[in-house]
Amino acid sequence: MNELPMSAPDITDRERELVIEVLNTPNLSGGGPMLQQLEAMCAACAGRKYAIAVSSGTAALHIIVRGLGLGPGDAVITTPYSFVASSNCLLYEGVEPVFVDIQQDTFNIDPDRIRKLLHGNAALRRRVKGILAVDVFGHPAEWDSLKAIAVEYGLRLIEDSAESLGSSYRGRPAGSFGDAGVFAFYPNKQITTGEGGAVLTDDEGLAEVCRSLRNQGRGPSSEWLEHVRLGYNYRLSEIHAALGVAQMERLDDLLAKRAQVAAGYTQRLQNVPYLSVPSRHPDVDVSWFVYVIRLKNGSHRTQVVQRLKEKGIPTRPYFPAIHLMPFYAAQFGFKPGDFPATEAVASSTLALPFHGNMDEASMDYVCDQLLSLTEELS
Ligand SMILES: *Cc1c(COP(=O)(O)O)cnc(C)c1O
Repeated sequence: MNELPMSAPDITDRERELVIEVLNTPNLSGGGPMLQQLEAMCAACAGRKYAIAVSSGTAALHIIVRGLGLGPGDAVITTPYSFVASSNCLLYEGVEPVFVDIQQDTFNIDPDRIRKLLHGNAALRRRVKGILAVDVFGHPAEWDSLKAIAVEYGLRLIEDSAESLGSSYRGRPAGSFGDAGVFAFYPNKQITTGEGGAVLTDDEGLAEVCRSLRNQGRGPSSEWLEHVRLGYNYRLSEIHAALGVAQMERLDDLLAKRAQVAAGYTQRLQNVPYLSVPSRHPDVDVSWFVYVIRLKNGSHRTQVVQRLKEKGIPTRPYFPAIHLMPFYAAQFGFKPGDFPATEAVASSTLALPFHGNMDEASMDYVCDQLLSLTEELS
C-alpha cells in the first residue's frame, strides 16, 4: 500500500466553480460578495451576530486579544495542552499566559483547577483579565462552568474553537461561547480555505475593531488611506473565501463523512487492550477534527510510531505540551512536572491518519497494524 496521507482536504467541482467565478471578476480581494457570504455562513454556524473572516485562525485569535484591550501587565488563564497558537496569541500582545492543567478524559482545561487557583491567589486575581479555553480535538470545553467563573471574577472569555466547527455543547454551537470565538480553515480542519480563519462574536464594538485591525487599522467609513489605529493585513482574499463558501455549502456532508470514519476507527480499535479510543462527555456532540488514540503506557509510543511508519502509516504525537516548548520553558521557567495531567496526556496521545474520504481498506490497514502489536504491548 502507498504511504497514507495524515489528512486530506475534500475538494469538489463546486469549490473549483466558485474559485473560478472569482477569477473571472476584477475583484480578487478587499472584501466582496464571497467574503460576505462566508462570514454570514460562519456566523450562522456559530449562532453569532458577527463573523469577521481573516487570513488564519491565529490572526483571528490575535485580533481578539488586541480588540479586547489585553496587553502588558495582564494575564490570561489558558491550557498548556493545545496547538501553540492559542497561547502565542497572548505573547504577541505582551500578555502573560497562566497555564492551568487539563481533565484527563476530555483533554480540556479543568474549570475546578481554575477556581482553586484564583481562590487561593489574590496577587494573581489582580493580574488575570481573561480565560482562553480550547475545544481540544473538537470536544467542547465546559463552557457553563467557565462562563460562571468568568462572571464571578469579572474576566473576559475567549473560545478557541479552531478545531470544533460544527460541534455543540448542551445544544449550543461551538464558537458561540464567551466574548468571542474563532474558526480556522487550514487544510486539515473540518472546512478549508487553504489558509484562513474567522472571529465570531455578538459584540458589535469588538466586531468593528476586528474589521479595522484586519484591514490595516482603517476606520469603518474613513478614506482608503486613513488609518485610525495600528492594524495588520489579515485580510482573506475573495479566492480563499470562495473556497470556504463551497465548503460551508457542503458542511453537513463533510462532517457526516468524518464522523463515519471516526466511527469506523472506534469500532475497530475499541477493544485493543493497550490503547483507548477518544471519549466523549454525554452533553456534547463532537464534530471530528482528528482521530487521536491514547496509549495506556506512554513509553510504548515510540514503538507504535515506528511500526506504523515502517508500514507507510504516518502518525503525529499530538499535542506536545506548550509549557515545555523550548521558548516557553526559557521565557517563563516552566519545567517537567509543572502540569502533570497535560504531560501524562501529551506523552501518550497519537493522531492517526484521518480525513473524510478515508476508505474502509485504509482503516483496516491502519487498525490491523495496531492490532498486530497487541501481544507485545499488553
Ligand atoms: C488550527 C488551530 C489554530 C489556528 O490555526 P491557523 O493555522 O493559524 O489557522 C488555533 N488553535 C488551535 C487549537 C488550532 O488547532
